[in-house]
Amino acid sequence: PALHKVIMVGSGGVGKSALTLQFMYDEFVEDYEPTKADSYRKKVVLDGEEVQIDILDTAGQEDYAAIREQILRVKNDENIPFLLVGNKSDLEDKRKVSVQEAQARSRQWNVPYVETSAKTRENVDKVFFDLMREIRSR
Ligand code: GDP
Ligand code: MG
Repeated sequence: PALHKVIMVGSGGVGKSALTLQFMYDEFVEDYEPTKADSYRKKVVLDGEEVQIDILDTAGQEDYAAIREQILRVKNDENIPFLLVGNKSDLEDKRKVSVQEAQARSRQWNVPYVETSAKTRENVDKVFFDLMREIRSR
């Protein structure tokens, strides 16, 4: 089956691991080791076709400024599929980034913006499946 590779990037504590584990195992993990990076593979059915998804969950100790520059460089060259995710939508009262701010950034980067909750599972399948559809269409 086709293999779709996804990398989770973002600051420590935003929920990269919780999103990955919710997608993989249908579980909300509250205490995943923050410094641990791991990769996961799962067979899924994408629009009737069996495919594999490979998720690299980064640890937060990476030099994200450098990764971001690399991604933007590659993205500018090759238009790598990219999705901007605002996680912890269940904690609306503790919102740190306004919807307007996030939408402005998503327009600037020309990528979709999706709000998720690894706790309630809101939009968790959506972000991974939308990304796989983007990858498939390139
Ligand atoms: P990472 O460093 O980006 O991998 O972040 P983690 O996945 O380890 O999550 C950091 C903390 O935020 C953990 O205590 C998680 O349980 C919590 N968390 C992650 N996603 C959510 C979410 O969608 N809602 C809530 N309420 N907590 C979350
Ligand atoms: Mg993590």
